[in-house]
Amino acid sequence: MVNEEEILSKLMNGELKLYQIDKLTRNTREAVDIRRKFIEKKSEVELSNLAHYSLNMEEALKKNIENPIGAVQIPVGLAGPLKLNGKYAQGDFYVPLATSEGALVASVNRGCSAITDAGGANVRIADDKMTRGPVIKTKSLIEALEIKEWINSHFNELKKAAEVTTRHGKLIKIDPVVVVGRYLYPRFVFKTGDSMGMNMVTIATENALNLLTHKTGAHVVALSGNLCVDKKPSALNLIEGRGKTLVAEIIIPKNIIEKTLKTTTEAIVEVNTSKNLIGSAISGSMGFNAQYANMIGAIFLATGQDEAHIVEGSLGITTAENLNGDLYFSVTLPDVPLATIGGGTGLETARECLEIMGVYGSGKVGKFAEIVAGTVLAGELSLVGALSAGHLARAHKELGRGTKSS
Ligand code: NAP
Repeated sequence: MVNEEEILSKLMNGELKLYQIDKLTRNTREAVDIRRKFIEKKSEVELSNLAHYSLNMEEALKKNIENPIGAVQIPVGLAGPLKLNGKYAQGDFYVPLATSEGALVASVNRGCSAITDAGGANVRIADDKMTRGPVIKTKSLIEALEIKEWINSHFNELKKAAEVTTRHGKLIKIDPVVVVGRYLYPRFVFKTGDSMGMNMVTIATENALNLLTHKTGAHVVALSGNLCVDKKPSALNLIEGRGKTLVAEIIIPKNIIEKTLKTTTEAIVEVNTSKNLIGSAISGSMGFNAQYANMIGAIFLATGQDEAHIVEGSLGITTAENLNGDLYFSVTLPDVPLATIGGGTGLETARECLEIMGVYGSGKVGKFAEIVAGTVLAGELSLVGALSAGHLARAHKELGRGTKSS
């Protein structure tokens, strides 16, 4: 029988650690409640809202969270219909967006209307891979180059060693293999099926490295040497791609630009050139866009993706061209790690949001990736349109500060 008071007092005086409670209680819910009561006492704050959740915390505790005390709630809005002419995503979609930024859903929704009225966007996955880049230390530059050569000439053996750890992970190349002094940085590049793949490729790379160290005597300093490049903005990912490389395009007739976006093609092209291209260039930005991170962030939070990858999804370039008054508009996102299986996608609310789009589980990641591309196109189009029409500040005042009339 659990003695809540005793556990609480031991937590307060430091005799027990937060993670030890799970073993002392009858179930996960009880452990969650005691941990929360502890921090309520310690911080002298009542946490009645964190206490409300419907997630199966026992399942979450196995792979998604440690020391749980509850769950946060983020409002979820719906944008759509969004018409897409994808390879996998064809038809009209409704997209759940989790955000506390007023005006975001309205903005994406407006972009969806323009795209849908114009006949739908082309969306495609241009490339697909997940990477792990360890760092190896050798005795000298000479040995570093010898091991580089060994890696190149023993690819099939390394591939075999990597792939025994996974059914869906496939090592497609080890490239580049960068030498810096006597350090070596091989980038292991995998296909990971419907999973985002970071755990999968980490485990597989470790097994391949065991073979490498056994055969060459090389010393692995760290399984990740930052050539991956995981969860950081990176020129390598911008150029080479990581996760899904997504492209979406649309031609919007002049009359829709005027009716729905309340602006002109000329004004949109001017804003895109001066802001997204020149403005980003002079600031050394790798995001030649207006707001990819807003749509990537809202979809990632709704669907249980790894939120730290939003930084990677913020990379990319928006183009706009004037076609005799009609608008050609595109977004290219080279680095969008995402999944319809594994990670947080199985959490109850994430699964429901994926199911809204018909993309939960095996065989669905292509369709999901294309819907993400279309949603980014919608949000980007709407914001560039709003800037070019000069009404961005008004929309934020009305929708973000609660001054809209009901
Ligand atoms: P995971 O849930 O660890 O692995 C995916 C699992 O799903 C594998 O067991 C795989 O089996 C299985 N699976 C079943 N059907 C599949 C299908 N159709 N396609 C692909 N796999 C399928 O997820 P992960 O994507 O590898 O890793 C995601 C997690 O890694 C996230 O929670 C993220 O936050 C975390 N993460 C880890 C690191 C790290 O360094 N380890 C870094 C960043 C993020 P098989 O393997 O047998 O194919």
